[in-house]
Amino acid sequence: MTNGTGAEVVVDLDAIAANTAVLRGRVGRPLIAVVKADGYGHGLVPAARAALAGGADQLGVAVLHEALALRAAGITSPVLAWLHGPGADYAGALAADVEVSVNAGWALAEVVAAARATGRPARLHLFLDTGLSREGAPVTEWPALVAAAAQAQADGDVTVVGLWSHLAYADAPMHPTIGAQVRVFEEGVALARAAGLTDARRHLANSAATIALPDTWYDMVRPGVAVYGLDPLGGNAADHGLRPAMTVRADVALVKRVPAGAGVSYGHTYATSAETSLALVPVGYADGVPRAGGNHAPVLAAGAVRTIAGRVCMDQFVLDVGDDLVAPGDPVVLWGPGEHGEPTAQDWADAVGTIHYELVTRIGGRFARRYV
Ligand code: PLP
Repeated sequence: MTNGTGAEVVVDLDAIAANTAVLRGRVGRPLIAVVKADGYGHGLVPAARAALAGGADQLGVAVLHEALALRAAGITSPVLAWLHGPGADYAGALAADVEVSVNAGWALAEVVAAARATGRPARLHLFLDTGLSREGAPVTEWPALVAAAAQAQADGDVTVVGLWSHLAYADAPMHPTIGAQVRVFEEGVALARAAGLTDARRHLANSAATIALPDTWYDMVRPGVAVYGLDPLGGNAADHGLRPAMTVRADVALVKRVPAGAGVSYGHTYATSAETSLALVPVGYADGVPRAGGNHAPVLAAGAVRTIAGRVCMDQFVLDVGDDLVAPGDPVVLWGPGEHGEPTAQDWADAVGTIHYELVTRIGGRFARRYV
């Protein structure tokens, strides 16, 4: 049910399952489907179920809350949650059988304390910063973290099941930082193996690396955006056998005839060049439609791709449809798989100067979500 405007995000769950199967088949090894950020805007639980149906071996989320929501929905597959602050509810994570990642000695100490308090050993992934300079233990702290984790494992408080890192430039497969990060990763793994963490599985590859960098596949891969059918390399998803799962649409709410020279939307950044019809589309930046789309972003309406006329407002934007026949209730597609002439999320990303990741994870607001 929409909110009365026909605005809906339509999610093709079969596409998510099929994309997962394609990626899983390509690498021929276990796959962690990343479903953080509400399944990249596709819905956490439905996206997770679809990815599992497509052969995902495990799910990955950023924060514990997301992992616990998966458990509350009855999903029993392995789940890794990797982004925690001090005082995180590790006891809750262990009770829900959620694997956690640590990147610092103090975080490991919190996990060990939770394991002792609950009597449940933690399944732990150790995160090494190999060059992204984001989450992950710096190489200078890695030996101490590994030693502490090996001790915690010997004490029965944790089982180190993963050794992992994240790439800075996987979407530029020839970039020299990739080789540099791989070397740091392998040194870090060797150190951990030497400390007795022999069973931990190595994982490094996000979507771009899963598609383009076989040398980074190790024991598991960890794709997100490609699971949803978006090409992390900015090209055509179909070239990789992927199909975008999200379509964003709304119905025209009003059509009116205006004379030449009519200024359109706030600030009159667009003016009609001749007598024309304007169609009102009832979604705006409060719903996650980027304001930067004004006078730039394409939509499909009445059989033609048209650029938004004037500024995107909080709840609505306007199209100049000329003399074409457009009526209230007619469909407008912002982005979709691109199979019926509609723009793709990549087209929007190019038009507004962002990445499709940002578009799909932000779309929401008053859009209804419908699963097909
Ligand atoms: N691994 C980590 C640590 C991430 O933060 C992300 C997403 O940003 C992914 C994997 C999945 O990345 P992608 O969506 O590019 O496949």
